[in-house]
Amino acid sequence: MELLERRILSEGKVLDGGVLKVGSFLNQRIDTSLLGQMADEAAKLFEGEAVDKILTVEASGIAFAVAVALKFKADVVVAKKHRSSNVSGDCFEAEAASFTHGGTNKIIVEKDYLSKGDRILICDDFLAEGNAMQALLDIAAEAQARVVGCLAEIEKGFQGGGDRLRDKGVNVKSLAIVEDMSDGKIVFRQNNRM
Ligand code: 5GP
Repeated sequence: MELLERRILSEGKVLDGGVLKVGSFLNQRIDTSLLGQMADEAAKLFEGEAVDKILTVEASGIAFAVAVALKFKADVVVAKKHRSSNVSGDCFEAEAASFTHGGTNKIIVEKDYLSKGDRILICDDFLAEGNAMQALLDIAAEAQARVVGCLAEIEKGFQGGGDRLRDKGVNVKSLAIVEDMSDGKIVFRQNNRM
């Protein structure tokens, strides 16, 4: 998505360890006009698909998940990273290594919030190694839901997670794919232009 790519080029900051900071428009201060346009693109990418629920993981992808859900008139289910006092009852659980924090998160969704046969679109802000998306796929499988696809605002193609999921047959779409930023210069995957 050209508008998003331009914004990443003008405001994105390449940090050590292969981290792209987009806090000024995507996940700390959120540009709601851009968010709306990203949701429009998402609706085009999955046009014709019936989606019952958007599944995401807390916290930075929730705004995008809600914007996309409005397009599909779907509910949003947010997987928690901790079992706190307001998570009760039986839960689906999956492990995911955290790229930004290190360590492993146990991703949790209360069983009542997903149903067998639900058509699910998995959304997140970033797709890097693919661990978060894989954990959400595992939870959807446990729930016997049908995954329509996975959608990221930004994929870091050089980490390979998106392509590994595509190779497994998952319908993975990203609004922008960063192919390289190793020397601080951001280069996008060319055939991702929409
Ligand atoms: P993965 O599990 O695919 O390795 O990483 C995806 C998760 O890590 C996303 O939920 C996202 O919040 C975080 N993440 C991964 N890479 C980046 C990055 O370069 N910048 C930011 N802001 N978050 C990232």
